[in-house]
Order: sequence, then structure tokens, then C-alpha cells
Amino acid sequence: MGSGTWPRIVAHADMDAFYAAVEQLDDPRLRGKPVIVGGPSRRGVVSTASYEARPFGVHSAMPTAQARKLCPDGIFVPPRFDRYVEVSRVVMETFGRFTPTVEPLSLDEAFLDMTGAERLFGPPEAMGTKIRAAVREATRGLTVSVGVAPTKFLAKLASDFRKPDGLTVVRPDEVAAFLDPLPISRIFGVGPKTAPRLERMGLRTIGDAARLPEATLVARLGSLGEHVSRLARGLDPREVVGDREGKSVSSEQTLDQDIVGERAIRPWLRRSADDVARRLRAEGILASGVRVKLKTAGFRILTRQCALPRPTDTAADLLGAADALLPEFDLAVPTRLVGLGAFRLAPAGAAEQRELFGEESREKRRRLDKSLDAANARFGRGSIRRASDVD
Ligand SMILES: [Mg+2]
Repeated sequence: MGSGTWPRIVAHADMDAFYAAVEQLDDPRLRGKPVIVGGPSRRGVVSTASYEARPFGVHSAMPTAQARKLCPDGIFVPPRFDRYVEVSRVVMETFGRFTPTVEPLSLDEAFLDMTGAERLFGPPEAMGTKIRAAVREATRGLTVSVGVAPTKFLAKLASDFRKPDGLTVVRPDEVAAFLDPLPISRIFGVGPKTAPRLERMGLRTIGDAARLPEATLVARLGSLGEHVSRLARGLDPREVVGDREGKSVSSEQTLDQDIVGERAIRPWLRRSADDVARRLRAEGILASGVRVKLKTAGFRILTRQCALPRPTDTAADLLGAADALLPEFDLAVPTRLVGLGAFRLAPAGAAEQRELFGEESREKRRRLDKSLDAANARFGRGSIRRASDVD
């Protein structure tokens, strides 16, 4: 079967009836029963209904009072958000084992950029199957539906296609056929107000919109027309944006004795830079920000940070940036902790900027760092160091 080429591979993973499923996981008596998680007050609304409750017409955002009428035998449970956050963390960590670029949309769904991951996980079907199995195992039984497609918009539609507990892969050469019959309201941004307007124009399905020239849609709908036209034709250049703000890789050393001055601090920074760079390389990610952290003898925490001219995973680049930050601290103050962190992280394949100049020596440095990693892995950490470390 022709699969077409995949310019990008985007997975969208969405937990099935998440809050209700967590309640059923934690309390076996609730399994197989219509469970409705919702605010306990009279005016509360339904957060999530288990799949057993849905045939009664119960759905999220419905007033709880109405849900009681529709499903009198339903088991109504107040939400336990702390618990959902806890399980969500396990789920997101599981996603993070597949790619460093995970973009959470809420507690229970995320985009994963799986571009270039075929060697690790196999073709897109296998990626989806493995993600689903890993989530089920990590959560001890929760199911997740996964869509794999060349764009975010398609991946999100695909994850919904065989819910619950489903996997749908939309190959590049199947995009038009997949989109064609779907109702126009499935295009995000086409809400309950816009959909009837489009339907009056004869646009009932996504295929209807795809067959009209973009200029026609723009003439009738303005900028929304452009949006609708592009998505209807499967065009969606949005990247999966990893959770860059929250993520960093850092290493810090609490010292046996307080130290003073740059000469004393620098070897500890180097140690942290080596440690951070090794972990970046091990995870296949590059950093474009560096943060230096010092804790004074009086327990004040001081930090300075800067952006790097290009994303990196070498100790030399990290240390160079840290060196440049040191004059911004008052180094006459006794220091009890030295740390270095790398942030603004992105996968190595996507973010690396190839430069005409300096690329060769930089490559050489990376290779050297990598061979040190291999040697250290074999012989134990710190057994092999650069000559310049002995200073
Ligand atoms: Mg969900």
C-alpha cells in the first residue's frame, strides 16, 4: 500500500473519559457503571461522563441536575482534581518517553512530535500502538485514543475518530479522503455561529470547502475563509510546541565549604556544564538558554540567565555562556551552592542551526563530547576528562 511520504509525523493522544476513568480505576466497584464526575452543588455541571453514562445522553458541561434526570441510576462523584493532576503527570511523562516535544493541551491530551522517530518506534501505526500500550501500563489500565497524521489538525481529528480506546492513522495520501465527508463544524474556529452560515453557503462538509477556490472563501468570509480553506485542504503548518517554559536540565553542587571569587566558582560551573551537556545529548535535545544559580552563605538565591547565539548540547558552549554571566554577580559574597541550568529546549533534529562558519569545529567538539559520554558510560562517570579539565 502506498503510504506517501511523511513530511512530519504528529500524534495526538487523548485519554478516554479521563476523570471518570480515573474514578473507575481507583474504585473497582465503579467499573462498568455509568459514572458521572461533576460539581456536587445543585448548580454544578458534569465534568466527565464515563462511556457507560453516555448512551443516556449525558455529556460534559451539562448541568448535573439534568444528568440526574437522564440517568437516574448514574453514580455521581465529586471531582478530585489533585488525583487527576497526579495521574496526568504520569501520562505526560509517558508521552515524554517517546519524544522530547510534547505539547499538552489539557490534563488529558497532548500533541507529540514523532517526526524522525521511525527508527526508534517503527512506522506511524507502531508508534500509536506503542504510545497506547505504554500509557495503559504506566497508569495500570487507563486507555488513550491516538491519532497519527502529518499535521496537528488532522491528528486531533484522527484521535477522535475511533474513540474510546482507538488508534487512527491518516497517511499523507489519505488526507483528502479522510477530510472529505467530515462536517464543516469539525474545523476548529467554526463554532455554532459560523457553521450554519457556512451551511447556508452550501458548505456542509470539509470536502465542500476544499473544492472551492480559496479566493472565493476569502471573498465571502474574510480571514476566516483563508483559515477554513487551508485546513479543509489539509494544510496546517503549525509546529508541535514543546513545553519549553517549564522544562530545563540543570545540575547544581552544594559545597562542603563556602567559596569566594570566580577562580573558586568556575571549576564547579564546569562540572555542572559537563553534567548538563551529557544529559542533553543523552536525550537528543538542544538548549538555547543558560542560567547560572548561586546560593550565598546567607541562603540568598541569585540567578542570571542569557540566550545562546545558537542551540547547543556542548559543555563548552554552556560554560562559555555561564562565564559571560559571572561578572553580573557580586562574587565577593561567600557562596555555598553553584548551579547551571539549560532551558529553551528543543529536539536536536528540529532546532539545530547549521552554520557555514564555525560548524566544523563545533561538530568536532560535539563528537569529542559524545566519545567522552561513551567512555564515561563504559568506565564510570568522571573517569575520562578533557585535558583542559586539569587546570
Ligand atoms: Mg480526553
